[in-house]
Amino acid sequence: MGISILTVCYLIASVTFILGLKMLSNPATARKGNLIAAGGMTLAILGTIFLYEENGQRLHNYGWIFGGIFIGGIIGTMTARKVKMTAMPELVSLFNGMGGACAALISIVEFGRLVRADMGITAPQGELLIILLGLIIGSVSFAGSMIAWGKLNGRIKDVVFRGQHLVNLFFLLLLVAGAAYLINSMDFGVTFGGQPLGLHFAAEPWVKPFFYSIFVLALVYGILFVLPIGGADMPVVISLLNSFTGVAAACGGFLYDNRAMLTGGILVGAAGTLLTILMCKAMNRSLMNVLIGSFGGGAVATNGTGGVGKKQGVYKEISLSDAAMIMSYAHKIMIVPGYGLAVAQAQHVCHELEKLLTEKGVNVKYAIHPVAGRMPGHMNVLLAEADVDYDNLLEMEQANAEFPTTDVVIVLGANDVVNPAAKNDPGSPIYGMPILEVEAAKTCIVNKRSMKPGYAGIENDLFFQPKTSMLFGDAKKVLQDLIAEIKSL
Ligand code: NDP
Repeated sequence: MGISILTVCYLIASVTFILGLKMLSNPATARKGNLIAAGGMTLAILGTIFLYEENGQRLHNYGWIFGGIFIGGIIGTMTARKVKMTAMPELVSLFNGMGGACAALISIVEFGRLVRADMGITAPQGELLIILLGLIIGSVSFAGSMIAWGKLNGRIKDVVFRGQHLVNLFFLLLLVAGAAYLINSMDFGVTFGGQPLGLHFAAEPWVKPFFYSIFVLALVYGILFVLPIGGADMPVVISLLNSFTGVAAACGGFLYDNRAMLTGGILVGAAGTLLTILMCKAMNRSLMNVLIGSFGGGAVATNGTGGVGKKQGVYKEISLSDAAMIMSYAHKIMIVPGYGLAVAQAQHVCHELEKLLTEKGVNVKYAIHPVAGRMPGHMNVLLAEADVDYDNLLEMEQANAEFPTTDVVIVLGANDVVNPAAKNDPGSPIYGMPILEVEAAKTCIVNKRSMKPGYAGIENDLFFQPKTSMLFGDAKKVLQDLIAEIKSL
């Protein structure tokens, strides 16, 4: 009876995951979708704790279970409450890494169970395959996410060395070969109840150290895989690691025959893979390059610590009052938000400016680059938080089609995503990445605090073009002052 109610719980949870994911695709319903999926997950967890039975026995170690949930819940809640919007990608990376670690731990525990069984012969070959997949993918995801976390918060620098791709490929092959060898050493000759049975693990002293070597190797590969990836290429790898965690969790679902875990894992894996492909398209990179860690073509990305300093032209500045005047009398304005807008927490005041201009009869839209900010969809989330109407957000292709008929583009704390070097300079580390072609508009006003480069660490020719004027200052302060100026006109 308990199991059948549990099955219904898992079914409901799976449906909420799918519904939640669907609702996440629109900012207007995203928050609700998140809550619905979280509700389903809670149901699946509570169902497992109270209804799961093995050999007629329910779980009994409630102290450990609820102790863990309590401590983890407190840490998670406090971290999520405290985190700044600009640090969200790091947090996502950290949480993603924890998911990978969980999947790897499940594999380690389950492997330990197989080895402990002194009947010796317990594992169908498929089970060992799933354990190894969960171990490898989970460990790569954990180690890679930790490196991504360190890179995003500036604690870890890019490490690039000669022959790196070959070293990465060697480690990957070693992992695959090790896993294949272990699976292959299983004894097919013995069957029990028609099932092929495994090697007598307990009697084979090399098996355990071999398994742990695969674990360590996977961690090393995870580190090596993300270490060279720099600058503008990070979003793709974050999304890829996310899909790894999903697949690793799905392996756990297979092992435990847990349908909610399986559905959840597959959904995360599939959604992450799709996002990775979309990101690759947005950055004009091939997935194969990501997989062997050869992103960025070996170009030096300085992670915002200094410009590559190709050539320094002359830029012109615009005063607040002139900017206010130009914007007030424009017919069509495009706002290009970037990472700096998130740093300044200027989304609300940006929305205020948009409303003010709209009241004055100006047609105002936002041009959203898929990798603007520091995580996929960062700008959509940021602007949704400020209640910006979703219909006013244009995707890159739509925005690029509209720039030639736009009077004023105002770039707010964006840099790499409007850098023409991505189109014109084959030597640039961001060459090939599609950009917002703001220079096609009649006038371009760029707001940032200085002439420092953006995330990819490269100079931006846009700032030196005749149509461009720089409006220096913190985005929030500048927008507040602009609003005051426009109101006083
Ligand atoms: P960039 O990082 O290229 O540029 C942001 C600019 O904002 C900087 O040049 C900075 O200049 C300015 N800025 C910083 N603080 C403020 C402030 N308070 N007020 C005004 N301006 C400010 O941002 P983009 O959004 O253009 O590009 C995103 C980059 O991040 C891309 O290279 C992308 O690949 C990468 N990335 C994206 C991820 C994603 O998933 N979206 C993940 C990881 C990386 P100054 O210091 O002079 O003010």
